[in-house]
Amino acid sequence: MRKHFKTRITAYAAVLCAAAVLLVILLRATDNNFLNHLKTKASLLLDPIDISAVSSDDDDWQLMLVNAENPLPEGYAPELTELSNGHKVDKRVYPSLQKMFDDARSEGIRPMISSSYRTSAQQQAELDEKTEEYIRQGYSPSRALEIAKTWAAVPGRSEHQTGLALDITTADASVQAAETVWKWLGENSYKYGFILRYPQDKTDITGISNEPWHFRYVGKAAAEEIHKRGLCLEEYLKIIR
Ligand SMILES: [Zn+2]
Repeated sequence: MRKHFKTRITAYAAVLCAAAVLLVILLRATDNNFLNHLKTKASLLLDPIDISAVSSDDDDWQLMLVNAENPLPEGYAPELTELSNGHKVDKRVYPSLQKMFDDARSEGIRPMISSSYRTSAQQQAELDEKTEEYIRQGYSPSRALEIAKTWAAVPGRSEHQTGLALDITTADASVQAAETVWKWLGENSYKYGFILRYPQDKTDITGISNEPWHFRYVGKAAAEEIHKRGLCLEEYLKIIR
C-alpha cells in the first residue's frame, strides 16, 4: 500500500514537472524574439556566412559601427550630397537611396525622409529635446536623460552623424500610414543596401528602442545577409570580424 502511494506520488511529480517544462517551452515559443533567435541560429549553422564574399577593406566605411560603445572617429566628416529637400547623406549612399525611393514610388509607396545627416550640435539638440519631453512627463532630469538615450544617442555616438542613416516616414499621412512605408522598406530596403537598424527583437543588443523608421546603409552584400538571417549590425560584425 505504502509502496503504491509512493509510486503514485512519484508519477504525479513527474507529470507536474513535464507539464511545467512544456508550459515554459510553449510560453517561450509564443515569444517571437525567441523564435527569431532560433531561426537565426539555425541559418548560421546550416549555411554559414561566406566572409570572403561580404567583407573587404574597401567596405569598411559602409560597415562602420557607431553605438554607445563605439563612437565615431574624432573629427569624422563624410562628404555629403544635399538632396532637393535639404536633407544630406554620405554621397556614396545617394544613388542607392534615390533608386530605392524611385522603386518605392513606382509601387505607390510614398516615403519621405524625416531625418538624415546630423552634426554633433544637431544630435545634442535632438537628445536635449527628448530629455525635456521626459522631464515634462514627470521624470527626474537624470532618469529623463537615461530614457532619452534609448531614443537619441549622445553626440559622437549617433549613426546620423555618419551620413549613412536615415529616418523615413510617409510623404502624405492623409493618404498613407507610415506603417505602409515601413513595411515596404522592411521587406525591400536590403536590395538597395539598407537595413532596418534597430529591430524590435534586438533592443537588448543595439541598446536602442524599436525604431521602424531608422534605416542604415551597409552595402548590398551585408544588407542581404543581415536581412535574410535576421541579424542586427552588431551581431553581423561579430561574425565577420
Ligand atoms: Zn534615426
